[in-house]
Amino acid sequence: MSQNIYQRLGLKRVINACGKMTILGVSAVSPEVMAATAEAAGAFVEIDALVDRTGELVSTHTGAQDSYITSCASAGIAIAVAAVITRGEPDRVAMMPDSAGMANEILILRGHNIDYGAPITSAIRLGGGRIVEVGQSNLVARWQLEKAVSERTAALLFVKSHHSVQKGMLTLEDFVAVAKQFQLPLIVDAAAEEDLRQYVARGADMVIYSGAKAFNAPTSGFITGGREWIRCCKAQHHGIARAMKIGKENMVGLVKALELYGEGIANMTPEKLIPTVEAISALRGFSAEIEQDEAGREIWRVQVRVHPDILGIDARQVEAMLRTGDIAIYTRRYFLHQGVFSIDPRTLDQHDLTTIVERLAQIAGEQEKHYAKH
Ligand SMILES: *Cc1c(COP(=O)(O)O)cnc(C)c1O
Repeated sequence: MSQNIYQRLGLKRVINACGKMTILGVSAVSPEVMAATAEAAGAFVEIDALVDRTGELVSTHTGAQDSYITSCASAGIAIAVAAVITRGEPDRVAMMPDSAGMANEILILRGHNIDYGAPITSAIRLGGGRIVEVGQSNLVARWQLEKAVSERTAALLFVKSHHSVQKGMLTLEDFVAVAKQFQLPLIVDAAAEEDLRQYVARGADMVIYSGAKAFNAPTSGFITGGREWIRCCKAQHHGIARAMKIGKENMVGLVKALELYGEGIANMTPEKLIPTVEAISALRGFSAEIEQDEAGREIWRVQVRVHPDILGIDARQVEAMLRTGDIAIYTRRYFLHQGVFSIDPRTLDQHDLTTIVERLAQIAGEQEKHYAKH
């Protein structure tokens, strides 16, 4: 195989079997999207009009009144927070993230206070927000959210993520009801979600997505929601959002990627994974099965179980061997303590899947030889 651009720069070839991860470059952008991005990069445009037009186009996919493209989802969180605190007032926008004296509290469940490579609280603070955690890390009641509201509250923030605690939390419907009861805006962080419509439809005022994660766009994010709130987001361009600027080319790339979105989902029916499952299960010391995403998304993966009694090494060791080989193979390693890791097919082609099975076969072979010697 010829070397890819990263190998030519002296870096390893990476097979990403762990999903859309920032540490591996998030997603692979299609040639069609890159062609749109390249064309946009090479021409001039009136940026304010581009911001408005791309916002309209994104909204056709989300069903919201308007949208605002950002440099990433973290920027989206910071900008949405600044929007609710400043309400778009130019003097306040210019003060951010110093929100002293303003209603600046952002209510978030303790079980939603996640780290996605950086704490979500950093993004909230960048937007001038003060974090108010509600409930305990594994349990919260609705009255606790209601009691946390005061005249200092700027917004409620709901995090829909596989990173957050899934049990014992309030539902989005609880958040929608409490936001309505106190006439507060509700922000939803849906950065890695693939459903473009449901959070807007269920009553969120602003929903934040990553462009690069589910939608395979170049680095980008967006906020989609009510017209007035999006106006307040756009106002941040003359404040904190300037330090989070996205280029014209990536705005156009995101719009193109959303247009093409959908094909990727159809590609990952569970049936397509059966040959890989069978090939891995045939290896000595390994078995495999198809599993659905732990957060219930329409994502199917191959879960690989390591049998240390047969193989002689455990799942942690196998995962490390995959990751540190000449080709770096990254698998999902959240459940290594249970003796399993997973292969996420969304970021793989057939050749990659074959390479992974070959590498596992090589490990099984080496272990067998090693074992025979003793
Ligand atoms: C990845 C992620 C983010 C951050 O997205 P970026 O586009 O990398 O800034 C925020 N929230 C959640 C839930 C995420 O999964």
